[in-house]
Amino acid sequence: MDLEFAAEFPREKIAGRAHCLWRYREAIPLRNDRNIVSLGEGFTPLTEAAVYGRRVLFKQDHLCPSGSFKDRGATALASKAKELGIARMVEDSSGNAGCALAAYAARAGIDCEIYVPAGASGAKLAQIRAYGAVLHTVPGPRENAGVAALKAAQTAYYASHSCNPFFFQGTKTVAYEICEQLGWRAPDTLVTPVGNGTLLLGAYIGFADLMNAGIIGRLPRLVAVQAAQCAPLYRAFREVREEIPFTAKVPTAAEGIAVANPVRARQIVEAVKTTGGEILAAGEEEIAAAWRDAGRLGFYIEPTAAAVIAGLKQYIPTTGRDEVIVAVLTGHGLKSWY
Ligand SMILES: *Cc1c(COP(=O)(O)O)cnc(C)c1O
Repeated sequence: MDLEFAAEFPREKIAGRAHCLWRYREAIPLRNDRNIVSLGEGFTPLTEAAVYGRRVLFKQDHLCPSGSFKDRGATALASKAKELGIARMVEDSSGNAGCALAAYAARAGIDCEIYVPAGASGAKLAQIRAYGAVLHTVPGPRENAGVAALKAAQTAYYASHSCNPFFFQGTKTVAYEICEQLGWRAPDTLVTPVGNGTLLLGAYIGFADLMNAGIIGRLPRLVAVQAAQCAPLYRAFREVREEIPFTAKVPTAAEGIAVANPVRARQIVEAVKTTGGEILAAGEEEIAAAWRDAGRLGFYIEPTAAAVIAGLKQYIPTTGRDEVIVAVLTGHGLKSWY
């Protein structure tokens, strides 16, 4: 399900507001400002760096308050939950989405319970606990945590980052910021990692909003990067049809995109195709090398986020020299690293 909502961009008003994603207030569907639950997220730096012989602009979303772009979705979702008078919410996440929702639930004074698969990364679990959320560890494959959360959602608000449409009404602001930071122009290409597609679909919605408002003339190419070890979207995009055996523990360091069955798979592939983009897959060694390359540029990011750098290495040689490429750095290296 998605929301139909006509976003507006009063550019002069926006220019005078705080450097936070709520500067696009008229583009985020919330009735009353009093319900905004914010930690000052968004408006992250767009920083130029030369990589693989090309100038690329890096959107530093690992600098968001809980350390990943998921704060964009969480601020919108927690604000809506507050507006609806929700007292308790549940979510299943193996990492950053859980951290982000726990942070904004704490800020909103909403009780929060997170279902995580056994074996999720230690630093992220510690962070979720620090925000005061209740952690439930669910044995078995990742899917089991989803089933447990859905069951709990019979008596609580299901704050699912991959399903709940309000989450996407927050992640879409990454497109607004990139556009504003480029002087209200769209880049030619946006490169992101993709697992459940909350960032990619958010960016798609955001650029579509800007196009509908007459601010940009066309959608940027969306180039999405998966880990080759867990690449259902890559396979769907390339129309690789043979069955892949289900693996209970997907062996990739890019844990944030190890999503075997993305609920919005068809929507993601469709969005990428609509923009003339593509879906790439990077192997474990490529991701590890890309992570080291990122460090040498001064970006300390988590392995999942490094998939984007690995994607750039594949993508750049296929493009024209003048292409304006923006790549999103999605998560901080301080909670997961090699
Ligand atoms: C969640 C996450 C992703 C992938 O985002 P999706 O919305 O699942 O596509 C990428 N990088 C990091 C660091 C993440 O936490």
